[in-house]
Amino acid sequence: NLADSLDKTFRNLRGVGKISESNITDALRDVRLALLEADVEFGIAKEFIAHVKEKAMGADVLKSIKPGEQIVKIFHDELAELLGGDQVGLNLEAPGRLMLCGLNGAGKTTTAGKLALRLKREGRKPLLVAIDLYRPAAIDQLATLAKQVDVPVYTPDASESDVVKVAREALAWAETQRHDVIIFDTAGRQEIDERLIEELKRLHVFLQPQETLLVADAATGQQAVSVAKHFDDAVGITGIILTKLDGDARGGAALSMRSITGKPIKYAGEGEKLDQLFEFHPNRMADRILGMGDIVGMVEQVASKIDEKDAMKSIERLAEGKFDFNDFLDQMKMLQKLGDMKGLLGLMPGFNKIKKQIPDAAFDPKRLKRTEAIVLSMTPDERRRPEIIKASRRDRIAKGSGTKLVEVNQLLKQFGEMRKMMRSPNKMNKMMRQMGGGL
Ligand code: GDP
Ligand code: MG
Repeated sequence: NLADSLDKTFRNLRGVGKISESNITDALRDVRLALLEADVEFGIAKEFIAHVKEKAMGADVLKSIKPGEQIVKIFHDELAELLGGDQVGLNLEAPGRLMLCGLNGAGKTTTAGKLALRLKREGRKPLLVAIDLYRPAAIDQLATLAKQVDVPVYTPDASESDVVKVAREALAWAETQRHDVIIFDTAGRQEIDERLIEELKRLHVFLQPQETLLVADAATGQQAVSVAKHFDDAVGITGIILTKLDGDARGGAALSMRSITGKPIKYAGEGEKLDQLFEFHPNRMADRILGMGDIVGMVEQVASKIDEKDAMKSIERLAEGKFDFNDFLDQMKMLQKLGDMKGLLGLMPGFNKIKKQIPDAAFDPKRLKRTEAIVLSMTPDERRRPEIIKASRRDRIAKGSGTKLVEVNQLLKQFGEMRKMMRSPNKMNKMMRQMGGGL
């Protein structure tokens, strides 16, 4: 992905003591290719490169003490700017009307549920309305999600075929129930077609929603850009919600969609669970694209679910290269609480590549329990210094934990490799240390 391909370029640049025009030109060529590979639209990539070059060629940069780092910063800031600058929230004064649109499978219905939960937690009284009149299953799906987040849902009769009529009835109902924000989940299509667009336009004209959000799958790349443009031309979207950022999504779509429509990305969906909708921060996304890892996001996620002090302690030990099996146990407990560990790993600097090599099975709770049993069967000294564990002890540990010798061997080997990796990339250690020190 974009982060991977840029990683090398930036590693090279950071190490450069003196920047010349040819350094910059080389780096920019790499970056341009990386951007194109990540599905950033051609014109946007070109413009971005020109911009960075102009800034990077400025005399101040060339004279600076750490030109490499400064250029990386220019890249970062430009990316963040391209992604929208500051975070933009929802504008939903009561009675608020919010309409979601997008292609089938983009995540509209899921996002409707997530938004309802979010607004409810903010003290609003939301109503969900199903306006997908083509697929009865879509209505059931919204009703199920509504139940999960404990928010009322308005569902039309199966015989109904006029979206405006349904919308009018839903609004009347919302008024009697004193709902202060109404979320409309609309129908999608496999691809843009006239009928869908006409229907959305009629609905939009009738509803006059304060927020018309396009829900787009972050993994769809180039296609997402033309989709965004079409929807924006048809109904004038007020923002974008990017879904499935927990997957292998490339940053390219986000970049292009924002540039082409000029509309802010307001939220990011990062999982199927209903609380996995987060504010979109261009700054952090730029970090992520540049492969620095979404540290702030990570710490926030960790802090919201586990004790911040514990988390920091273990991160500091990581940074000092002192990480042992006792820390590992602590961390496993934290991670178990966190649930989606793979998602978390993706946010950590340097882990992007590693993450892909870890099989999903490694995150299986049953397996985690076995791993925990193995560690618990070690003596405290062995946990501190796993290198002292000899063959005979491995056998005992396997028996003691009710696991197999191969599992014990595998764990010790993986742990050894993990430690090595944590000690080696200076970049990561440095960042962790800065982070630990800053908190
Ligand atoms: P719709 O057709 O636009 O209404 O899309 P749905 O809401 O039905 O979502 C399609 C699929 O994508 C479902 O399986 C959702 O669970 C899944 N999905 C939606 N948002 C996310 C997300 O942020 N991350 C992940 N991993 N899956 C998502
Ligand atoms: Mg749907």
